[in-house]
Amino acid sequence: MATRLQPVDAVTIGVGLTGSLAAYEMVQSGLKVVGFERGAERETVPDFQSPAIHDELRYSIRKAFMQDNAKVAVSFRNTSDQTALPIRRWESFLPGQGLGGSFVHWNGQSFRAQVADFVLRSHTIQRYGQKFLDACGPELTIQDWGVTYDELEPYYDRFEYLLGVSGKAGNIKGQIQPGGNPFEAPRAREYPNPPLKEPYFGAIFGKGATSLGYHPYPQPSSNLSRPYTNPLGLKLEQCVFCGFCERYACEHYAKASPQTIILPVLLKNPNYELRTSCEVLRINLDSTGKKATGVTYVDGAGREFEQPAEIVFIAAFPLNNVRTLLLSGIGKPYDPRTGEGVVGRNYCYQTTGGPTVFMDESININPFMSAGAPGTMIDDFSGDNFDHANMNPPFIGGQYVGSIMTGGRPIEFHPTPPGTPPWGLEWKRAVARHYNHTILIQQHGTSMSSRLNYLDLDPTYKDAWGQPLLRMTFDFPENDVRMSQYIADKVVEIGRAMGGKIVVRGGTKRPYTTTVYQSTHNAGGAVMGDDPKTSAVNRYLQCWDVPNVFSLGGSAFPQNIAYNYSITIGALTYWALDAIKTRYLKSPGPLVQA
Ligand SMILES: Cc1cc2nc3c(=O)[nH]c(=O)nc-3n(C[C@H](O)[C@H](O)[C@H](O)COP(=O)(O)OP(=O)(O)OC[C@H]3O[C@@H](n4cnc5c(N)ncnc54)[C@H](O)[C@@H]3O)c2cc1C
Ligand code: SF4
Repeated sequence: MATRLQPVDAVTIGVGLTGSLAAYEMVQSGLKVVGFERGAERETVPDFQSPAIHDELRYSIRKAFMQDNAKVAVSFRNTSDQTALPIRRWESFLPGQGLGGSFVHWNGQSFRAQVADFVLRSHTIQRYGQKFLDACGPELTIQDWGVTYDELEPYYDRFEYLLGVSGKAGNIKGQIQPGGNPFEAPRAREYPNPPLKEPYFGAIFGKGATSLGYHPYPQPSSNLSRPYTNPLGLKLEQCVFCGFCERYACEHYAKASPQTIILPVLLKNPNYELRTSCEVLRINLDSTGKKATGVTYVDGAGREFEQPAEIVFIAAFPLNNVRTLLLSGIGKPYDPRTGEGVVGRNYCYQTTGGPTVFMDESININPFMSAGAPGTMIDDFSGDNFDHANMNPPFIGGQYVGSIMTGGRPIEFHPTPPGTPPWGLEWKRAVARHYNHTILIQQHGTSMSSRLNYLDLDPTYKDAWGQPLLRMTFDFPENDVRMSQYIADKVVEIGRAMGGKIVVRGGTKRPYTTTVYQSTHNAGGAVMGDDPKTSAVNRYLQCWDVPNVFSLGGSAFPQNIAYNYSITIGALTYWALDAIKTRYLKSPGPLVQA
């Protein structure tokens, strides 16, 4: 029997990126907020200090910062006629656990989406026609977001300044800027900090790409290029290219994370209470099923509590957001046989992978000396920046391409050319020959939603509290494979132009496997939109069916963009919170009429 606690104004389920943003904005508005985090409390000092934080076995291989999948896993299958099995080792994606969430061990690649991304369906039909879209795959369920880039621009700006993103603007108010990305959507002003220093691998990539007529630019990064004080008065330091960034926390206060950009201020606010090691089991509804009354959670000692609240923010990472909605009976679950229902619909992923370029021994890369988001990119093949009209076979979408090596760590990085034995003396010789003379190129791109890919509750497997696991049914749509393979050919040409002696082609293939890291940009499943028949939340991330529940994060993306998505998540969260502060708190209820 759960113990009922004193009511509060709002709760966040999860205290990662979106949970911290939501709590901060709400306490600023005078609300009493409780943040529930299933993982432990942790701070830069003492928890993220070296040498312990540079333990590759603990963090990269054994995934110390990730969701405890002995307690709560995700089950997976490629198609709905297969039986899903729980993922017991995270590899393909790495959802985080602990104060700060995945935003502690992220890389810091800090891109905005493009104008067309937010109106993908109407843009595609307008530029190429419905027949073309149908030819890309009748199973595709792409749709517009219900919000436009122009509406989000001020919120992108605000979020980038909170983080202190280091980059070079390519387009300020429509004026193309030398040195930046000419394909960038217009921004109001420069980045808060100049770009990181260009590593040697980035310079080689940039030269090769330029020789083929492409447009290199420095990757926007939340590894800071210089000391910076953010608008909340928090001081960040300059990145030292330590080589232990993604999958690790930053010991130097140089990577934007909840611990460096917001939590120190939030935790001091008397209206805020953090409860770590507390797992929210479900959102409770009143007898009408149309109003949330709070949440039920279990604390670290296994005691069950009911926390009444007026507003519930689901801020638990996209996969957990969708599971929370399903476990709580909020919104109609998606049925792949009829195509009806919205919760679990349009789950999508990202297309990644790129060539490995083996260079001459005279080219010394020093891959160990790097950051989480350094390097040089091109956007010539991203989104709809190139004409798709004559693509045969047809496809939509695209990928950014760049060299962004993040640290040649000893266990994970030992590139060898094809034909090298996987162990023994010859393998060791090949590693010694190529370790310092190899450049990785990243292709990173869109993934379209499909009626065949979805999330639901597993009928067999349960978590430590006896609740069904989330079940993922996913394979890349044929459209995504065509797109990625087309770009793979172009990127091989870049690898050769860089002077590569051997260039090993990349590109996405089917079937999708969960055994190789690809991206932790899981998207969709509780998508935003204008129509409650095809979206779980409205344009302010408010649940259509239960208006005092807001589902924040990448679960709202109707299909996935080419870019690492957290900057867009931050902008969307600020956009929704602004509407809550200025309108919802004055008059609680639906912000949009269905
Ligand atoms: C290795 C890696 C590299 C990345 N690099 C980049 C990058 O370079 N650029 C980029 O844009 N993005 C990157 N990302 C993605 C980025 O980390 C996420 O987009 C971002 O953290 C999502 O924010 P969120 O609030 O949705 O989830 P999170 O920040 O993960 O926070 C969710 C929190 O909710 C908690 N939680 C979940 N369920 C419950 C529950 N039932 N009860 C209580 N608490 C719960 C979790 O423990 C977690 O702490 C990367 C991710 C990883 C893993
Ligand atoms: S690479 Fe830079 S930002 Fe990343 S952990 Fe090291 S010092 Fe921090």
